[in-house]
Amino acid sequence: MVEQDYYELLGVQRGADDAAIKAAYRRLAKEHHPDRQNGCKDAEARFKAVNQAYDVLKDPQKRAAYDRFGHAAFQNGGGQDPFGGGGFEGFSDIFSTIFGEFMDPRGARQNAARGADLRYDLELTLEEAFTGVEKTVTIEALARCETCHGRGCTKADDCSRTCATCNGMGKVRAQQGFFVVERGCPTCRGSGEVISDPCANCHGEGRALSQRMLAVKIPAGVDEGTRIRVSGEGEAGVRGASPGDLYIFAHMKRHPIFAREGTTLIADCPITFTTAALGGSIALPGVDGQKNEIKIPAGIQSSEQLRHRGAGMSVLNGRGRGDLVARILVETPSRMSAKQKKILEEFRATETGEECPAAKGFFTRAREMFGG
Ligand SMILES: [Zn+2]
Ligand SMILES: [Zn+2]
Repeated sequence: MVEQDYYELLGVQRGADDAAIKAAYRRLAKEHHPDRQNGCKDAEARFKAVNQAYDVLKDPQKRAAYDRFGHAAFQNGGGQDPFGGGGFEGFSDIFSTIFGEFMDPRGARQNAARGADLRYDLELTLEEAFTGVEKTVTIEALARCETCHGRGCTKADDCSRTCATCNGMGKVRAQQGFFVVERGCPTCRGSGEVISDPCANCHGEGRALSQRMLAVKIPAGVDEGTRIRVSGEGEAGVRGASPGDLYIFAHMKRHPIFAREGTTLIADCPITFTTAALGGSIALPGVDGQKNEIKIPAGIQSSEQLRHRGAGMSVLNGRGRGDLVARILVETPSRMSAKQKKILEEFRATETGEECPAAKGFFTRAREMFGG
């Protein structure tokens, strides 16, 4: 079935006002009324068509949708024969229930006009993360237009008028196959309003790209991936709408001594084999700049861990500190004098196997394997 244009059907211009449309409808309805045509089939169909055209054009929202999408705007709800009696009654109900959300101008507008959130990746040293730090970051983003102060135009009085494309709704519908999809109005970008005399600097958006410096407080204890939200410091909104937020993502630089696991700081500490055998102490610098004396018990083995409570990392949003852990690596001497070698040879001559029980046990088991 060929669908006749609703304006043509009523014999009015596209831009006709409500009164003209109403007058045209009354005239045609009277003319094609079935009672006057003695049940003529053609007249009855035409009467229905005129009613349908009027039903759409008298409603500003439906008319705006029709102007934009033609008959496609109503086909989904109207059944396969929009001019047939049954389908016709159907579509206005479906129209208002399915698109009820669309008809609520508030939600649509606010979301579309709010500025986007921004992400800033910030590298920190372990020392900065330990104490917390104030950092100055440079942000290049859409900010409130200085020329029009975010209004979108430089006129003294109100410079906005209702967008004709979406009739102020901020959203439009489009037919895609069987589905009617909603999207932000391309003319007003969801604000529902257009600027009649736009600001030359921001083209009526009320925001323009600019670079700015911002001081941000980084709390003590942040770690790799910690996200710090700086409220309202994101992209500016369209014409004074609320701005987005700025999210600072913390990244940790490698530290020459410390590895970090949460609030625990771990340092690999090579010690001499004599210190390992006889005991002693080492001085380990802390992240706070203080020296930590780590006592080495006699007979310590490689990879044993010595924990120093409360000398580790600060706790994010909390009190106290984590632990400092010295992971022991016993270093075997690789450069010895003749005298030192001689002393060690003498030591070996006195070995019974009891000095190093793990080695003794291992070699005992190995001998058994070979049937010794
Ligand atoms: Zn401007
Ligand atoms: Zn619009």
